[in-house]
Amino acid sequence: MIRSWAAFALLVAVSTGCTAQPAAHGPAPAPSAAANSAPAASAVPAVPALPVRPTSTTPARARTATGSARPSRSAPGAIRPLSVAARAAGLVDIRTVVANAVIDLRYATADNFVGVPLYPADARCLVHQSMAAGLEVAADRLRRAGFLLVFWDCYRPHPVQVRMFQIVPDPSWVARPGPYARSHEAGRSVDVTLAYATSRACPATRRASGHCLVEMGTGFDDFSARAHAFAGDGVSSQAQANRRRLRSAMNAGGITVYSGEWWHFNGPGASVARPHLGTPVD
Ligand SMILES: [Zn+2]
Repeated sequence: MIRSWAAFALLVAVSTGCTAQPAAHGPAPAPSAAANSAPAASAVPAVPALPVRPTSTTPARARTATGSARPSRSAPGAIRPLSVAARAAGLVDIRTVVANAVIDLRYATADNFVGVPLYPADARCLVHQSMAAGLEVAADRLRRAGFLLVFWDCYRPHPVQVRMFQIVPDPSWVARPGPYARSHEAGRSVDVTLAYATSRACPATRRASGHCLVEMGTGFDDFSARAHAFAGDGVSSQAQANRRRLRSAMNAGGITVYSGEWWHFNGPGASVARPHLGTPVD
């Protein structure tokens, strides 16, 4: 599963970034060899444009299931009703809030540095309802500028946090699962990036669910210093501008970036300790 020390080191870093609470991060680790070995997007040759997808006239329910190389979250035209537990926890399916959301849950696939899925294939992006209005504002602002919000992670069930800690039982790297939920475990944080709303030539490394991701300087699983939200060194001026665009849109919705990771955003009350939700992610 972890084939090298470099991969293990990066896994540890990634797990920290996705598991630690917003206020609990320690000093950022030095750039790892694995992180530094990630191919620069600029070095990836362009490939033919992706096929034109229906983005503005097709109902949101149909759009979410088109063009994905990853497991489909639901049958076309259907958003499964939430479970009783999810409704009771105040969670909502992001697709009912952001009609053009691109769902690319990395932990529902093997496309993460663990190398195996941590979520079921039909996992979906659930967020607490307190984030809904803000995400709608952000997505609307981005849509008007020609961008889509891509969701890499949303609500994370406590058992997944436990499993991550079992894989890397080092609290200096991975937040030790505790008796309370915060951040992702409370459905009040999201990991997001941007995709272009229109078809275009796209490097293979930036394709996601039939869309072309915007260059942000690093990928989701990068935890080098370049992943810091306000990093300058090693991050192109264009990528810095794209990060600013994302932050600005999210800020308009009252959602703020975590300085250690450009992709991690906290909604209102994300750092408040709350009872675990006990809700599955599918
Ligand atoms: Zn996160």
